[in-house]
Amino acid sequence: MSRKILVTSALPYANGSIHLGHLVEYIQTDIWVRFQKMQGNTVHYVCADDTHGTPIMLRAEKEGITPEALIDNVHKEHSADFADFLVDFDNYYSTNALENKELSQSIYKKLKAAGKISTKTIEQFYDPLKNMFLPDRFIKGECPKCHAKDQYGDSCEVCGATYNPTELINAYSAVSGATPIRKETEHYFFKLSECEDFLKQWTRQGSGTDKATLQGEAANKMGEWFENGLNDWDISRDAPYFGFEIPDAPGKYFYVWLDAPIGYMASFKKLCEMKGLDFDEYWKQDSTTELYHFIGKDILYFHALFWPATLEYSGHRKPTKIFAHGFLTVNGEKMSKSRGTFITARSYLDHIKNPEYLRYYYAAKLNSTMEDIDLNLEDFVARVNSDLVGKYINIASRTAGFINKLFNGEITQIDNSPVIDEMRRVSSLIAESYAEREYGKALREIMRLADLANANIADAAPWLKAKQDGTDARTSLELDCSAAMEMFRLLTIYLKPVLPNLAANIETFLNISPLTWASVHTPLKNGHRINNYAHLITRIDPKQIEAMTEANKENLQATPAVAQVTSAPVSTLPEVEYISIDDFTKVDLRIAKIVNAEHVEGAEKLLKLTLDIGEVQPRQVFAGIKSAYDPETLKGRLTVMVANLAPRKMKFGLSDGMVLAASDERGGPFILSPDVGAQPGMRVK
Ligand SMILES: [Zn+2]
Repeated sequence: MSRKILVTSALPYANGSIHLGHLVEYIQTDIWVRFQKMQGNTVHYVCADDTHGTPIMLRAEKEGITPEALIDNVHKEHSADFADFLVDFDNYYSTNALENKELSQSIYKKLKAAGKISTKTIEQFYDPLKNMFLPDRFIKGECPKCHAKDQYGDSCEVCGATYNPTELINAYSAVSGATPIRKETEHYFFKLSECEDFLKQWTRQGSGTDKATLQGEAANKMGEWFENGLNDWDISRDAPYFGFEIPDAPGKYFYVWLDAPIGYMASFKKLCEMKGLDFDEYWKQDSTTELYHFIGKDILYFHALFWPATLEYSGHRKPTKIFAHGFLTVNGEKMSKSRGTFITARSYLDHIKNPEYLRYYYAAKLNSTMEDIDLNLEDFVARVNSDLVGKYINIASRTAGFINKLFNGEITQIDNSPVIDEMRRVSSLIAESYAEREYGKALREIMRLADLANANIADAAPWLKAKQDGTDARTSLELDCSAAMEMFRLLTIYLKPVLPNLAANIETFLNISPLTWASVHTPLKNGHRINNYAHLITRIDPKQIEAMTEANKENLQATPAVAQVTSAPVSTLPEVEYISIDDFTKVDLRIAKIVNAEHVEGAEKLLKLTLDIGEVQPRQVFAGIKSAYDPETLKGRLTVMVANLAPRKMKFGLSDGMVLAASDERGGPFILSPDVGAQPGMRVK
């Protein structure tokens, strides 16, 4: 029976490029969608750019364009990246769309009518320089629990604690560096605390069975959250804010996380309009269609608590299942700009060209858990070359030529081959692995079959038979090569969700209609004519990988503002020749506010400084001034930094600039201070 399935991937934020970390999810989802479509199910796969919120507003402001222009540019870039990685959305939309505005407002009104909305006057951090309330992510300070420095306003990355930004110690604005003031404002809340019974029931639904809404690990995480008790969810933000205004609440906007998941519905609504589908069939309370959300484990809270509660109390269906995955590491470590492993989708395509290599590698690593997956670049080359070129394509490249040259391209149907029988026998096992998102398991099984096929061909040695005379040798050769073509066809069915382009090229070569899972049972028939075999894929040259990581290191040199950490050893002024004024103006000196200073474990001379020069994110710099300064005395001081020094990798992290200081045999280092009135970000010239 054909199922009706709606699938989503998480909405990428319209504030940056798609990178290899993002692609784990889109490739994972796309493989699943393609697999389900091959099963004959009706599947719609939708996604959108997540476009609202303060970061977008501030970035547009910085670039001197409107937020609409910014998200438009990003939408084009994201769409091209996904298309080139063969991520086949049925609709890729934007949360800044009319459909989303209408749905968000109507859902809000239903929640209000259901008594789930309240208002409360709260005290929030306010940036007195920028005249705006600061989102949690734009306030930093010391964690109230473990006292780690430079933690975000909502959670601590060191100890994992979550808290209110008002609890931060020595808070500062990441927008201007100013010390925020506390200001009262009325906020709108979704009464999540009243949804606990529903959510407990929903998150544990089918627990431990294949009907479970959540993976075991995710359900356990929910258990922890329930133990701590659910807080009401603050769903409003004050102007200035880029988003949708709340009905009957001038100057109040929906928090981006309210309208982002509704963006799934909006994207589907647009698809319904384009394709004449029935929106309500998929979203009404008692819908019998299926709804699956693929997400990263970091946004489980939104998808497993807020989202089902929002749907429940606005009279909609709930997700059938939520599939959370882990993060990507590269060569066993967090993606890193200094190592050249922070690789964008576009940079991969520029260097490696073929997106299916990455799809294959990710699939080989993916399973149904929330574990992180590692892209080991050496292993990537080895596995793609050995599995895809050495095992899979090899089957055709060693045998197809004989059929083309000696048998007029015609196939003989094979009825008794133990290898082909084995390949058909495991069809449902492979299907089950795909359905359960155990792609690694599926590919191991498929490569076992490829090994069987290659062993079979090696035993038959068609290249020897081709040199022998006589009808028997010829007939045997014809059967061997036809069998190899059928094996190749079966493997192509199994690999098609992962390698859709290659499969399409093979369908053309085999002269057959698009393969579905049911094609397992319709072998190549007697007299079927295949096309001439042409080269299908090439090996990856390890030099391509080197070039890619090198290029990403270069990107870093060119764009110091994106680097995370920085350091500048202090030096005495060298004796130099005269320079021109042009030479001097190449050095971008800025007034910097030291918003934080701290010791670096294991460093003898360095202090880690967090410097605000008016950028959205403050910079971090390691400076060799430990001998002269107690970090506590530096906090809040203004000084001068070189803002355009190429970032440099130090033992403790990256250096993204340099703090100026004076010293010689008489003492020092002494950092500089500007006169009263200077503000962070002012240019020194
Ligand atoms: Zn902490």
